[in-house]
Amino acid sequence: MKVYNTLTRKKEELKTIKKNEVGIYSCGPTVYWNQHIGHMYAYVQWDTLVRLLRYLGNKVTWVMNITDVGHMTSDEDVGEDKMEKGAKREGLSVWEVAKKYEKQFLESLRLLNISTPDVLCRATEHIEEQIDLAKKIEARGFTYQTKTGLVYDTAKFPEYANFANLKLTEMEAGARVEVDEEKKKPWDFLLWVTNQPNHVMKWPSPWGEGFPGWHLECTAMSTRYLGNKFDIHTGGKEHIGVHHTNEIAQGYGAFGSQTANYWLHNGWLTFEGAKMSKSLGNVVLATDLKEKGFDSLALRYLILSSNYKQGLDFNFRNLSVAAEALVKLKAAAGVPGEGGVIESVKKEFLEKMEDDLSTPEAIAVVWKMVKGEYKKEDIKATLLELDKILGLKLAEKEEVKVPEMVIKLVEERNKAKKDKNWAEADRLREEIKKRGYLVEDTKDDCKIKKIMLS
Ligand SMILES: [Zn+2]
Repeated sequence: MKVYNTLTRKKEELKTIKKNEVGIYSCGPTVYWNQHIGHMYAYVQWDTLVRLLRYLGNKVTWVMNITDVGHMTSDEDVGEDKMEKGAKREGLSVWEVAKKYEKQFLESLRLLNISTPDVLCRATEHIEEQIDLAKKIEARGFTYQTKTGLVYDTAKFPEYANFANLKLTEMEAGARVEVDEEKKKPWDFLLWVTNQPNHVMKWPSPWGEGFPGWHLECTAMSTRYLGNKFDIHTGGKEHIGVHHTNEIAQGYGAFGSQTANYWLHNGWLTFEGAKMSKSLGNVVLATDLKEKGFDSLALRYLILSSNYKQGLDFNFRNLSVAAEALVKLKAAAGVPGEGGVIESVKKEFLEKMEDDLSTPEAIAVVWKMVKGEYKKEDIKATLLELDKILGLKLAEKEEVKVPEMVIKLVEERNKAKKDKNWAEADRLREEIKKRGYLVEDTKDDCKIKKIMLS
């Protein structure tokens, strides 16, 4: 299999450390708020990579972190701790916020049929490992101490700028006001943060009571579960410049070499061209899809019809198209009778997938088969086989279910009609329409039809 490695800026043959074994670490969610479908984009793609590697006969260990401490509102040391921000917003404790949004994340994984990672590890439960790692980095002379904490001295790692092609001179000129004025360079970063009297989550450490810097957890937990050297590290492309650059620096500091051999980065899911964000009011959650009458796996299909590196511009029109495509595939996978897997199709499908996870091309191979002249039973058998990688649950019957809210509105409208309250009936028809359904009156009843949402 070939993958695009950000480390070398090349598509390379994936050579694993141990034969037929792959260790993968994926940067996981910061559980201070809902994980929307923009976040879930990455996890669908990496899950498909994991499924593919398993299908090809590898023993895969997939590790993902849950960030529940230390992530500032900026990815650098600047700003407020995201967990504390979430706690203030909701009037909950930081621990309750973490629990609430971890649950929301796990439910989103389930709705999108994303395999549960083999290890799902919380930063707050690996404080000891993080302190140990910081001690190693300190012992090898890569740190200095300030009043704010233990700082990574990037001057000791001359290759610091290489991974992201950082222009350090320009960065120095444009640097923001620092939280820690004693830092030698603006991009030096905190491994351990001390002297923050208002911070709720605190642990004792050799540098004083405090909490870990955000980048430390990923290096500490990836190496804890996969070894100091492992195969693949994934994350969003926004992590290249700061988070992964700092992780690589930490690896060199502690072990004298970078931790992962392959660094894979996904593009973003945008909503009609804009980044999905609370402030723009365009946030969509996996749970919202069902309420709008969509099979949540239509989103999985839509995500896989985009290339992981390119990302996807989401809207409800392309989700509708994806939903229809999924219904057709399920119909083809649901014909009666038993057939055999069409080996030539499987081979072509795998060739596309093994070429840096080219899912759009692999899905095109599937459609070529569905529309091709094969026995229906063989198409079915092949679809079900390839679905082990696609994860679309093609064997499951589609459930066409009108949301309860819509049913309630239809009932209210029926009553208004009976009472000859036509204005109210018209108002309710509009309410129903807003939820994506059209009511058509028949002689003594009515029919509900789903309409295209935009
Ligand atoms: Zn990370």
